[in-house]
Amino acid sequence: MALLKFLGAIQQVTGSCYLLESHEGARILLDCGLRQGRREEQEGNRSPFSFNPHELDAVVISHAHIDHSGLLPKLTAAGYRGPIYATPASCELMELMLQDSAHLQEKDTEWENKWRARRARPALKPLYTVEDAEKTLKQCQALPYGQALEVARGITVTLHDAGHILGSAIVEVVVQEKIQSRRLVFSGDLGCTTSPLMKPPSTLKQADVVLMESTYGDRDHRNNADTLEELAEILQQAHRDGGNVLIPAFAVGRTQDLIYYLGRFYREGRLPQQAVFLDSPMAIRANAIYSRHISELDTTSDPVFGGYKQLQDWLPILRCTLDTDDSMAVNRISSGAIIIAGSGMCTGGRILHHFKHNLWRENTHIIIPGFQASGTLGRALVEGAESVKLFHQRIAVRAKIHTLGGFSAHAGQSQLIDWVSHFENKPELYLVHGELEKSRALQLAIRDQLDWDAIIPEPGEQIAL
Ligand SMILES: [Zn+2]
Ligand SMILES: [Zn+2]
Repeated sequence: MALLKFLGAIQQVTGSCYLLESHEGARILLDCGLRQGRREEQEGNRSPFSFNPHELDAVVISHAHIDHSGLLPKLTAAGYRGPIYATPASCELMELMLQDSAHLQEKDTEWENKWRARRARPALKPLYTVEDAEKTLKQCQALPYGQALEVARGITVTLHDAGHILGSAIVEVVVQEKIQSRRLVFSGDLGCTTSPLMKPPSTLKQADVVLMESTYGDRDHRNNADTLEELAEILQQAHRDGGNVLIPAFAVGRTQDLIYYLGRFYREGRLPQQAVFLDSPMAIRANAIYSRHISELDTTSDPVFGGYKQLQDWLPILRCTLDTDDSMAVNRISSGAIIIAGSGMCTGGRILHHFKHNLWRENTHIIIPGFQASGTLGRALVEGAESVKLFHQRIAVRAKIHTLGGFSAHAGQSQLIDWVSHFENKPELYLVHGELEKSRALQLAIRDQLDWDAIIPEPGEQIAL
């Protein structure tokens, strides 16, 4: 009998990881994600794996987000030498994300060690290094959507479009047992059906066991059209006030959506600003990957969009500032520009320099398009801080802060229920990748609407498949 072990993203969102073992002893790992958030959470990344990496036959990654792929370099460093399967676009995005993550790990440890040295504490080693990440990337093998592949003896995997970010996949696994086969479907992260660039998540009908994400299990997102109108109004207001618009955004997913929306306003003559700067080397590289895979994006919702070959075409006034010099030149612009820069939660990156030059100006407008974790600078701004500390200086916040809640890369409650309702004969359903109260709300809604009892597993729990 095959066994499935719930190792990560159980009763929480980050650190996605599941171990599947067939009755013949073939072992595959689904996702190998980094835990993010509070300090104790991050400490968990340092504990040794609860399985022997040498005994794994294959790893399958649902998508490139770091909470699904970010512990791969640690797995390689711990001795895993086998294949890592993901869609072609995910393989390219992982190159970007894992190198960046390794770089951050090295830099953070360097800082921490300076602090430790002054207190005569032993130095720490980084969680993993850029060299570990390079090794991991050599193990990645592209598996296109819809192609079934036997990744380990008796275990066949097929990836389906999850519509969450470019390359994101729902993982379908068939385990051949002695007389019968068992089918596991892992949703990965499911996209929001109103996202402009992504296709709706693929629906599947057959499964014995389903693992479904529940990030927004407790609610539906605000209407996309309303959010778009709000964005247009903020841009008009900023134009009237004569200042700059700053948008902190995540490099992969959110930034491309924004460029698309700004491009739509531009075409419709509704974009008053004369220049849009994309001031994030990572987002610029992500754009190139999106452009290479443009045929995988959803072109049906916007006929003009279908004719475009690369992201730059959506928004002709987009200027990408890769070099530090160009980035610093943007700091000198005092009005009329839209500046998109990382990091998404304002915890580092070039957005901080733009804040330094603009936060204290009354005519600046700051648009926060995504979730801000507590303790981040982004959260402080959202909560109305009167001043913030930047580069060892206190800076007054006179800019107007706007939060836009409607752009999500995740399915809301109704969309999750719709997705799971396509399975015939109510397979065993486990809710994962969600804070406990979100999963519970979804569990109740599924019981009410589909008369189906979903299970919220415990961390480390093991079930027979
Ligand atoms: Zn994701
Ligand atoms: Zn996720």
